[in-house]
Amino acid sequence: MTGAAIRYAAPGRVNLIGEHTDYNHGFALPIALPQRTTVTFTPDGTAAVTVRSDHETGAIRIPLDTQPGATGGWAAYVAGVLWSLRVAGRRSVGGTMYITSEVQIGSGLSSSAALECAVLGAVTAATGDRVDRTEQARIAQRAENDYVGAPTGLMDQLASLFGQDGHALLIDFQDAAVTPVGFDPASADAALLLIDSRAPHAHAGGEYAARRASCERAAHDLGVASLREVQDRGVEVLSAVVDPVDRRRARHILTDNRRVFAVVDAVTAEDYSTVGRLFSESHASMRDDFEITTPHIDLVADTAVAAGAYGARMTGGGFGGCVIAVAPIDRADAIAERVHRTVVDAGFAAPTCSRIHAGSGAGPVG
Ligand code: ADP
Ligand code: MG
Repeated sequence: MTGAAIRYAAPGRVNLIGEHTDYNHGFALPIALPQRTTVTFTPDGTAAVTVRSDHETGAIRIPLDTQPGATGGWAAYVAGVLWSLRVAGRRSVGGTMYITSEVQIGSGLSSSAALECAVLGAVTAATGDRVDRTEQARIAQRAENDYVGAPTGLMDQLASLFGQDGHALLIDFQDAAVTPVGFDPASADAALLLIDSRAPHAHAGGEYAARRASCERAAHDLGVASLREVQDRGVEVLSAVVDPVDRRRARHILTDNRRVFAVVDAVTAEDYSTVGRLFSESHASMRDDFEITTPHIDLVADTAVAAGAYGARMTGGGFGGCVIAVAPIDRADAIAERVHRTVVDAGFAAPTCSRIHAGSGAGPVG
């Protein structure tokens, strides 16, 4: 089968609130970013995909019957999707693939899910198989978990696939249900700012796994399969968690789940000063209870608030990456300037600051 080139794109994402809640079967509220990863796929009927990326040198050949461990490095995300499709009983097809991306890589904006979802969309467009978006998310997640070896939850893929212009996505990870929530800060003279610290979240893998293990131990102490099952009983229930560190980890999960719904209410009421307060509470919870922030990231968030933001929080898995702030529109430039100056004066890399809005999800291009 040799076909015309297929172009398929998938966005990165920013999580507004609900951090590390996905693998605890809780809640989160991401938006898809306007920045996208685009795959141009030319099927040729061979038994391998040859892939190149504008961010990497060289072409990598991936046999369609690839197994975990066979392809490493960046192309593992592509190979993982081909493998995961096969495990799910879906077809794939050989050909050449060229990847271009506007999503910042390794900044916590989920360039990995954007890559997986774009590859998946291109391959299923080529085979003509109809795979609903929830199944696509699970196939992409399995690629990342079991082929790449990163034990991430389902949020990134759901956000990339279900993104909607002008909407945040309320996700219930118990059943992967996605409910769009109108999100348009500009209509209330507010702005959502994305501040990239330029500190890559390198070495975060082991810490991520440790947080996950802590949450699992806490659930085990409470006699439940996941922390979700005690969500409605309040943080007092956590006194039965044996290890005090595990107890704090679990407290972050339960309180951030609650804040997800509080942010949904505040966004719906266009009350961005309350959204900001909840962002800052979430940041404190990630700093003190979950311990996934760094002094550099804390400085970015604190400076944004000192410069007039309603509130700010780290977004993404932690240990670097990005901070989001919500602010009155007319303070946005002053905040960007002040954060830049303060962070550089403290000896850290110069951050970049941009205004962002919710974009649409994965789909064919053109
Ligand atoms: P994030 O998802 O936050 O950007 P990850 O560490 O999860 O960070 O994923 C980043 C990795 O995904 C990169 O190191 C690279 O291996 C791969 N990747 C993502 N986008 C691309 C791309 N456009 N081209 C090549 N590799 C990519
Ligand atoms: Mg990622």
